[in-house]
Amino acid sequence: MNRFSLAKLIFLITVAVSVVSCSNIPPSQQPNTVVKMYVLYCGEGHSMDQSRWSPGVNVGKPMTLTNSCYLIQHAKGWVLWETGFGEDLSKMMPKGLDAGPIVWQWNYPLTLTEQLAQIGVAPKDIKYIAFSHGHPDHIGNANLFPTANLLIQQSEYEYAVGPFAKKWPAPANYQNLVKNQVTKIVGDYDIFGDGSLILFSTPGHTQGHQSLLVEFRKRGAILIIGDAAHFKDNFINRRSPVQNFSKEQTIESMDKIANLMNKYHAELWINHDADQTATMPRFPQYIE
Ligand SMILES: [Zn+2]
Repeated sequence: MNRFSLAKLIFLITVAVSVVSCSNIPPSQQPNTVVKMYVLYCGEGHSMDQSRWSPGVNVGKPMTLTNSCYLIQHAKGWVLWETGFGEDLSKMMPKGLDAGPIVWQWNYPLTLTEQLAQIGVAPKDIKYIAFSHGHPDHIGNANLFPTANLLIQQSEYEYAVGPFAKKWPAPANYQNLVKNQVTKIVGDYDIFGDGSLILFSTPGHTQGHQSLLVEFRKRGAILIIGDAAHFKDNFINRRSPVQNFSKEQTIESMDKIANLMNKYHAELWINHDADQTATMPRFPQYIE
């Protein structure tokens, strides 16, 4: 082998090694990644009958549904996952909003805006907002973020505000969401392209329901699954609430979530599970 071909060979090996090692770098060591996440209080619900979510099980048992918003600092900008129940509830309806099977309340001294302000974040600083789905307890504060890019499954968007919109017993802010810059997603979506924040399509509760994988440098991965299950027992037993859009898709999505947990070694976080929420580091604490 002459000197030229040896140099060429070394060059090719170097390129090959760097390509392989790039693709093998775990997200936690990539330069553009998640810095930290705050779990913010965004309302809570109280129901007298848990079996609305677990048909035939725990009939007549009272239940509290926690409801959090998740503020994520990524090296390329702030992301807000879920916007919770409308913060106006705290001042306008101190006794809560009786929505039939659930009474929604805001039992916390700070609104969402005030929690963000204490962290030093103004609504205009939020680069992306996304929610698991378009129900009122998840999009209630979306109007606070008119300059954020809305990341939403196309089917959810069309159901809520698009040409095929049906009339939900829902807040008026759907119509305001169309004024946001919108990224309509079909399937799974890597928000910053570095594997640290990935939206996964998990339909069933609604047709465009999605879940969020967050990869932390220190803690590892957490999969936040919105209402794909309302509490852990329902996930373990693959139960679908009767009011879900599709029971079949609900079960398929739970299986997909279980596979993702294995693949990413991810913790499962269930938004409405009060027992689990009590164990989470919550604002003003944060996760890295
Ligand atoms: Zn829901």
